[in-house]
Amino acid sequence: MSTRLTLVRGDITQQSVDAIVNAANSSLLGGGGVDGAIHRRGGPEILAACRALRASHYGKGLRTGQAVATTAGRLDARWVIHTVGPRYSTDTDRSGLLASCYRESLRVADELGARTVAFPAVSAGIYGWPPADAARIAVETVRATETAVEEIRFVLFDARAYDAFAAQVG
Ligand code: ADP
Repeated sequence: MSTRLTLVRGDITQQSVDAIVNAANSSLLGGGGVDGAIHRRGGPEILAACRALRASHYGKGLRTGQAVATTAGRLDARWVIHTVGPRYSTDTDRSGLLASCYRESLRVADELGARTVAFPAVSAGIYGWPPADAARIAVETVRATETAVEEIRFVLFDARAYDAFAAQVG
């Protein structure tokens, strides 16, 4: 099965896809950037599901590079897949952890049976990753990952991120 990669400039919370990926933090309890937007538009059901996950499975939080799904509340999507990107560091190469976010999110998407999945530029906002690097890791990783997902849509909020992803997708 071949997977289509598509690019959109816009707001991930407005996408009609089976699953949208959230660039969450390990607390799973909300934050700024895309995380804040998802919880604002998706409503309290998502936070309630995150709290339940914390209580049941992730007492210490979700580890960097891992992914877990919840309801998407009032969003069009059926599921939100929360993944925790690494903070950018000039001392340590954390690209393996960023790649893991994409791989693990697609693994969860396959478990759910999602056929269309939207990703933001994980770690390219508050976590400081240079857009070109973030885009290269994202695109190389999803291209190298076996998945039944039919469309992977990168949804880029700002022009810089959009241009960086466009340069990779070609
Ligand atoms: P991180 O902490 O992983 O860096 P951020 O949410 O700060 O996560 O940023 C990740 C990317 O998501 C950034 O490129 C940011 O511009 C973008 N972003 C912020 N809000 C939205 C949104 N509503 N839809 C899509 N992308 C968004």
